[in-house]
Amino acid sequence: MQKKDLAKKAKDYDSEKETKMTPLLLLRVLEFAARKHRDQRRKDEEASPYINHPISVALLIAERGGVTDTEILAAAILHDTLEDTDTKPEELEETFGVRIRKLVEEVTDDKTLPKEARKQRQIEHAEHLSPDAVLIKLGDKIANVLDVTHSPPANWNIDRRREYLDWAKAVVSNCPRVNGALERYFARVFEDGRRKLFSC
Ligand code: NDP
Ligand code: ZN
Repeated sequence: MQKKDLAKKAKDYDSEKETKMTPLLLLRVLEFAARKHRDQRRKDEEASPYINHPISVALLIAERGGVTDTEILAAAILHDTLEDTDTKPEELEETFGVRIRKLVEEVTDDKTLPKEARKQRQIEHAEHLSPDAVLIKLGDKIANVLDVTHSPPANWNIDRRREYLDWAKAVVSNCPRVNGALERYFARVFEDGRRKLFSC
């Protein structure tokens, strides 16, 4: 092998190792997701910054689900970039590698379908998710059920909030069982939400 090739190989190895180092990968992912979502807001009355939602999803699966795999946490932070920003799968793969690209794709809806069909497809697709993708799906549904309960979209009436909770439960019920702690936590926030929304 030529000297130049050896030097390139060594450099590639170093940068790959560097990218997978826990704090650096997470910092790069946070910077990327914050930039991609920079002009977006959540639908709650205060129009919270969008980036707080993917951060919450990653935090939930780490704290409640005990997930320590950095690439799963990275994919959780990136989980809405394909669906809600101009990010392309190739960009995710080039920047963060094939595993993260695949995970984010798994939790992304087919945007060519009309909304109603997308919601139904999400229920049906849940049973085919890989175990790693299920963790992100559970974190996303827990975060959104908490939001619909405590800081809902500004223009949603009570029926629409109840319907959302039931749809989220239908998705979670079809996911393979991979993390008892997250499944139990979902059940708890779902019951708390139903109780709150049926007492008003
Ligand atoms: P949307 O899918 O439009 O909105 C919910 C999504 O918005 C969440 O999954 C979440 O996605 C994101 N989001 C942003 N901010 C918040 C927040 N503060 N709280 C919760 N979620 C937030 O709404 P629906 O789930 O209701 O789906 C739309 C469907 O509902 C359509 O099929 C439409 O026809 C129907 N519809 C129903 C009505 C009703 O009264 N039941 C009225 C009008 C329409 P993410 O995590 O990806 O950001
Ligand atoms: Zn989300």
